Amino acid sequence: MARYTGPKCRYCRAERTKLFLKGDRCLSSKCPMNDIKSTGTPGKDPRARSKKPTNYGLQLREKQKLKRTYGMLEKQFKLFFNEAARIPGKTGENLIMLLEQRLDNVVFRMHFASSRSQAAQLVNHGHIFVNDKRVDIPSYRLRPGDVVAVGPRGQKMLIIKENLKEYTKSGVSPWLTLDVDAMKGTFVAVPRRSEVTELEKINEQLIVELYSR
Ligand code: SF4
Repeated sequence: MARYTGPKCRYCRAERTKLFLKGDRCLSSKCPMNDIKSTGTPGKDPRARSKKPTNYGLQLREKQKLKRTYGMLEKQFKLFFNEAARIPGKTGENLIMLLEQRLDNVVFRMHFASSRSQAAQLVNHGHIFVNDKRVDIPSYRLRPGDVVAVGPRGQKMLIIKENLKEYTKSGVSPWLTLDVDAMKGTFVAVPRRSEVTELEKINEQLIVELYSR
């Protein structure tokens, strides 16, 4: 599946918010959004966004934020949305639940990778196993009880060992478990919308309205 490979920080500039797409760099002083917060938007006309956004504009921005957070392109994101619409319940919440079930997202949340794009790369390169079988599809949908593990070659990778140090600082999401020494964890349950605090500012209803036009 195609992925965006251009500069990621431009997405944050476009959305005027940190999307945390580059791992540790996002938390460091090197993040260009730190400057934007204190000085406005460097290099851009400060009046450029002074107009009140239209409803369509608000809906579009919300969709772009969510899509870019999970590193997806439009076609695949729309497929996820269509799937969410088929599941009983609120479509917006279903969409987030489906995104959270992606293998690359869980690899990131288990701290095997420092960003979702790095997680997708680990999956693509065959370093991730699900229930003892190699899975190289980043969008693979996990089910409750699935065990996600770093494969034998990945166990020797310094980058994964370094990433796992983050576990001691922030732990894992409540719907996951992790055995750091074994480099494996379990996707215990599909999270509730309220548990995905990273997305608390996302208004998924706007995305539903956008696709319902
Ligand atoms: Fe966004 Fe991270 Fe780049 Fe900062 S460093 S602008 S949070 S991708």
